[in-house]
Amino acid sequence: VCYWIIASDGFICSLLGGLLADGFDERSCRSRYQSVMYRSRPGKQPSAYLVSKLRQQEALQRRCGPGTVAYSHALEQLRSGKSAGDGTGPQDCKYLVSISYRGLGNRILATASAFLYAVLTGRVLLVDPSNEMGELFCEPFPGTTWLLPPGFPLASYTNFSVNTTESYGNMLRNKVIRTAAGDVRPASRLPAFSYVHLDHDATEQDNLFFCDEDQRVLRNISWLVMRTDSYIVPGLFLDTGFQGELGRMFPEPDAVFHHIVRYLFHPNNHVWGLVTRYYDAYLATAQQRVGIQVRVFGSQPNSPELLEQITKCTQKERLLPELLAAAADPVAPGPSRKTKAVLVTSLKSWYYEKLKGMYWERAAATGEAVSVHQPSHEEFQRFGARSHDAKAWAEIYLLSLTDALVTTAWSTFGYVAQGLGGLRPWVMYRPDNDTHVPDPPCGRDVSMEPCFHAPPFYDCRLKRGADTGKIVPQVQHCIDMSWGLKIV
Ligand code: GDP
Repeated sequence: VCYWIIASDGFICSLLGGLLADGFDERSCRSRYQSVMYRSRPGKQPSAYLVSKLRQQEALQRRCGPGTVAYSHALEQLRSGKSAGDGTGPQDCKYLVSISYRGLGNRILATASAFLYAVLTGRVLLVDPSNEMGELFCEPFPGTTWLLPPGFPLASYTNFSVNTTESYGNMLRNKVIRTAAGDVRPASRLPAFSYVHLDHDATEQDNLFFCDEDQRVLRNISWLVMRTDSYIVPGLFLDTGFQGELGRMFPEPDAVFHHIVRYLFHPNNHVWGLVTRYYDAYLATAQQRVGIQVRVFGSQPNSPELLEQITKCTQKERLLPELLAAAADPVAPGPSRKTKAVLVTSLKSWYYEKLKGMYWERAAATGEAVSVHQPSHEEFQRFGARSHDAKAWAEIYLLSLTDALVTTAWSTFGYVAQGLGGLRPWVMYRPDNDTHVPDPPCGRDVSMEPCFHAPPFYDCRLKRGADTGKIVPQVQHCIDMSWGLKIV
């Protein structure tokens, strides 16, 4: 399905080659329809199989989601502590409740991961609406809601942690569930729910989640509640039971997150206003747009070393021009010169001010006119503040609309921007200490996928610790975090 939009070089399909479903009121979520007009690159084409899986998932969300008979029945089962996964329910629906927390980048990665797991396992995805998750995005599925309604029977689910008795890892440890000999109990005798803890502090048992044997047990539990702050998808690629489906859905494995994030996360009309007004005013007319994400923490002093790293990286990689000596004449004066807009995002304004000053005080060696812009500088990271999150989301989105992107190592904020934009970024390496500029200052990432920061180190077939970056060719270590895993 396409809404055709007239663009400078012909018509473009506003629903991303069928990735997005039709059937929404355009006014309720303008970004769904308008974002293609703001992207200079169309992005990767989704496979026909992925498109069909997404339509199936939408139908499942409508059939089993909040407000349906099936949903009431499943909640009843959960309240009574019985598993409904024995096929006796009216619709036999299974659910995944996703809890995400920490910064916006973490939350988007966590939700995207939960969504893919839900698709792979035929579960309805329900998103915990706290932490602004109900405030920033449009509903992704037509005719239903993805937000977990109030009154969920597991009253303290948002406090679930590594210590929760019902966590999958703890149930294994306490032998409530067994996999080694094969848990042959009928589904009706399994617990009604299990909590999947895949946070940075996940234990070895929690991480058995990534093994097929364990997935076969989890398959029969009707309700799963998952908490993660990471992009766990590389771990799903390690599971032999998922590999066939993943291969069919994503013939280009390095575009998994690219498709999911574009499918799932649409800025609501308020955030879309922030994106489009800024883009139209400061970025639209430039011939080239360069995004620079400078992730700093509120307590850090302004760092001349980091500024040097930014300029060295961008000039060495020819993303920004070198500067002429102060008295030198510009190479190509006049209105015919090329224009380049640099979008800086950061909690601090110092780096932006320095860069802007450099390109004002001295001429670019290429003769280009370089303008530097920064939408906000919030100074400190804040939790649960609506306007703060809206700005962060708008800035992530604006970074994704650039033609070339420089990101900061380890930052999930940058990962989301690169995935949305379909950009393989230049990553500024993390310095060993604050007084050293890394050499080289940055490197081109191997793919546009996010890095999984807390991966398992276990070979499920050999049942022993292993380097999980060496098990399947699509999953390797990240360039910004040596122990992390990413899809290439
Ligand atoms: P990460 O901590 O770098 O992995 O990224 P997260 O997005 O998970 O958390 C950082 C949070 O700090 C963001 O969600 C924002 O709330 C805030 N933040 C960090 N950098 C920026 C920035 O450049 N612009 C804005 N507006 N907020 C930022």
